Amino acid sequence: MRLAVLEGLRLGVLTGDEVADVTGALPWQHDPDPLTAGWWRRLCRDFELVRPALAAAAADPASPRIPLDEARLLAPAVNPSKIVAAASNYAAHVAEMHEVQERTLGAVEPWMMEFDVFLKAPSSIAGPRDDIRLPPEEAASEIHHEAELVAIVGTGGKRIPAREALDAIVGYTIGLDITVRGKGDRSRRKSYDTFSPLGPWLVTRDEAGDPADMRIELDRNGVRRQHVAARDMTVPVSHIVAYASAVMTLLPGDVIFTGAPPGVGPIARGDKLRVRISRLGEMEVGVR
Ligand code: MN
Repeated sequence: MRLAVLEGLRLGVLTGDEVADVTGALPWQHDPDPLTAGWWRRLCRDFELVRPALAAAAADPASPRIPLDEARLLAPAVNPSKIVAAASNYAAHVAEMHEVQERTLGAVEPWMMEFDVFLKAPSSIAGPRDDIRLPPEEAASEIHHEAELVAIVGTGGKRIPAREALDAIVGYTIGLDITVRGKGDRSRRKSYDTFSPLGPWLVTRDEAGDPADMRIELDRNGVRRQHVAARDMTVPVSHIVAYASAVMTLLPGDVIFTGAPPGVGPIARGDKLRVRISRLGEMEVGVR
């Protein structure tokens, strides 16, 4: 099932080239306030319980429908408790970062070449139709695109074993981990508002299949910059979940970026970034 968040924080299910508004099929009162919209996190946690009602509403000809190209889609992540992000998770990206760090940092930081997880501010999330806004205080810095496979936490948990980890995920979406290169903490350099575009919808794990089978591509202004098989991750999604959940309880609706493929590079005002992940879809965002 493909779940979209519509304007007014309503819930949509994709049916062909339309989106069915299935908000009325949720067993909870609808809350359009993003500050208190716990319905989304309950949906992530209890998706398997709610799925039959959503499927029935999506198939019901009486449900309101919007053509997909007219739908105002928001990020398929509403008020998550955190964004966890993997660093240094493709060998070819780690290799390219030596040159990037020499240029933007003046030296190579060995600790940044090791796999780990860090946090991004949830307020950096932007929708699939929003532009990335470059912050004026970073006008002199290189700001890079990182096109990433993103997992959305379902049931979540603490110390989730890797063999059970994919069951704790409700589904997957496309993400951009926009990053200021240079000195300073990752969490600050990657947390500017709009630096985490997500979308265009969430594909539930049954439909998405094994994340290792996906391919990730990014074109900047029509020119291919990133292209990788998710199978090339150093630490696969299941082990990212196990590693992160040993530190912090993963809560329903939490967002997990799985690491930058090789091919990162600078973005500039006026750019169009098109990201495609097989079995998930495609998202194009502008830069201003
Ligand atoms: Mn990243």
